[in-house]
Amino acid sequence: MLVNGTLYVISAPSGAGKSSLIKAYLQQFAEQAAVSVSHTTRAPRPGEENAKHYHFVEQDAFKRLIDQDAFFEWAEVFGNYYGTSKAAIDALLAQGKDVFLDIDWQGARQVKKQRADAKTVFIAPPSQAELLSRLQNRGQDSEAVIKQRMAEAQSEISHYQEFDYIVVNDDFDTALADLAAILRANRCLQARQSKKYQALFSDLLAKA
Ligand code: GDP
Ligand code: ADP
Ligand code: 5GP
Repeated sequence: MLVNGTLYVISAPSGAGKSSLIKAYLQQFAEQAAVSVSHTTRAPRPGEENAKHYHFVEQDAFKRLIDQDAFFEWAEVFGNYYGTSKAAIDALLAQGKDVFLDIDWQGARQVKKQRADAKTVFIAPPSQAELLSRLQNRGQDSEAVIKQRMAEAQSEISHYQEFDYIVVNDDFDTALADLAAILRANRCLQARQSKKYQALFSDLLAKA
C-alpha cells in the first residue's frame, strides 16, 4: 500500500551546509525524496534558476498568494519574504516521497503546529570561524550580506533545542550519513510500516 511521505524541515544558520546536504541526499536517494521549491521575493543569485531553486516573485505577487491562502507557511527572513506553497508539497507527499523544506526556524515552528508528524532537523556548523569561512568561500554574497547573516546566525542557532534532530556538519560525509539515517529510521516507524505492509501482516496472521 502506498503510504504518504514525511515532511522534513531542515534549518540551519546560512552557510552551515543545508542546501549542500539536501542536494547530496537527493542525488543518492532520488526515488525516495524531493525538495520543496519555495517562493521568495529576494533577487536570484548568479546561477539560480526560477522554479528550480526558488519561484522568484515580486512582493505584490507574494502578498496576493498570502491572501489566497496558497502558503503552507511563510516568513520574512533577512528583509525578504519566503514561503512554502501548499501545492509544492502535497503532490509529492501523496506520491510517497519524503519532502525536505529548507526553511528557517519560524517556518519550522509553523510546520510543527500544522503537522505533528513532521520531523525537524537542525544543521549546525562545527564553529563560528568555519561558518564565516564557508559563507566567504561560497562567493555568493557581498561582505555586507555576510555580516548580516553572521549576526542572524546567532538568532537561528538559539532555537536549536526546538528541533527533533541535530546534525553537526563538520565532515560532510558523516553529516550526510546522519541525515540519511534519520530518514531511514523514520521509514521504519511502526505506524508507517503497519500501513505499508497491511497485506503482509494479514497474511502472517492468517491461520496456517
Ligand atoms: P541559505 O541560508 O544560504 O540557504 O539561503 P536561502 O536564501 O536559500 O534561505 C534564506 C532563509 O530563508 C533561510 O533561513 C531558509 O531556511 C529560509 N527559507 C527558505 N525557504 C523557506 C520557506 O519556504 N519557508 C520558510 N519559513 N523559510 C524558508
Ligand atoms: P546553506 O544552504 O546552509 O546556506 P550551503 O550548502 O550553501 O549552506 O554551504 C555553504 C558553503 O559551505 C558551500 O560553499 C558548501 O560547499 C560548503 N560546505 C558545506 N558543507 C561543508 C563541509 N562539511 N565542509 C566544508 N565545506 C562545506
Ligand atoms: P537564501 O536567501 O540564502 O536563499 O535564504 C535565506 C533563508 O531563508 C534561509 O535560512 C532559508 O532557509 C530561508 N528560507 C528559504 N525559503 C524559505 C521559505 O519558504 N520559508 C521560510 N520560512 N524560510 C525560507
